[in-house]
Amino acid sequence: MAKNPAATPSTAPKYTDPGCAYCPPSVQACRQGEGPERGPGFCPSKMATEEIEDAWAIYQDPEVKRIAQESARVESEGYCQWTRVEEVVQFSKKMGYTKIGIATCISFVEQANTLSQILESHGFEVASAACKHGGIAKEELGLKDDEKIRPGGHESMCNPVSQAELLNSRGCEFNVVLGLCIGHDSLFFKHSDGLCSTLVAKDRVLAHNPIGALNLADSYYSKVWGPERPEKKPKLPKEGRK
Ligand code: SF4
Ligand code: SF4
Repeated sequence: MAKNPAATPSTAPKYTDPGCAYCPPSVQACRQGEGPERGPGFCPSKMATEEIEDAWAIYQDPEVKRIAQESARVESEGYCQWTRVEEVVQFSKKMGYTKIGIATCISFVEQANTLSQILESHGFEVASAACKHGGIAKEELGLKDDEKIRPGGHESMCNPVSQAELLNSRGCEFNVVLGLCIGHDSLFFKHSDGLCSTLVAKDRVLAHNPIGALNLADSYYSKVWGPERPEKKPKLPKEGRK
């Protein structure tokens, strides 16, 4: 087994969970491969060396390694030049995929049409499935009338498992998600045989730009916080505050 170059023996860890979300911008030592020396106590490069070794073993699988290599090549070749649509095309080409699936929300069919044509223009075969296909009433899933968006009429359930099965059965090697709802996208990822990537993450309030809620969490979107919002931002993950 090839050795993970990032993993070196650590001192006794205080933390059991990795806490990268609390790593100060002035540290983030993993960028330079210096996590074991300069990383904080909650740095996985320090406190999770065994898991890193285990994960490294998985990269020895030829397909996993290839995906990781081609992803890194797309990242560097198109850095700040390629849109994500172009990255989908270039990654698919590098991977040698011939058939691409599009799993779209019914509200994104127009964009799915554009994407399908763009992919076809690059020589790919494309199959696309909208979330409402099958038209099964939400009641069949056990939802009550008053749990629908507009009670009183027919509302088709979102059917991401069937989207995945359809694209699987048509031999799609890479599936692109366009605007599936939270949870629905999760089911799609869980059931897709092909590798998946998200082109559009659904956020009805923020024009499908969910990071806006994080960037503005301390101002316009402060409603996102729960009742235990600390008055002063903690510098350490919870384990380190005890
Ligand atoms: S805690 Fe370690 S791995 Fe995480 S961001 Fe900081 S240096 Fe990188
Ligand atoms: S359930 Fe979600 S993914 Fe499906 S149509 Fe509605 S918004 Fe789109």
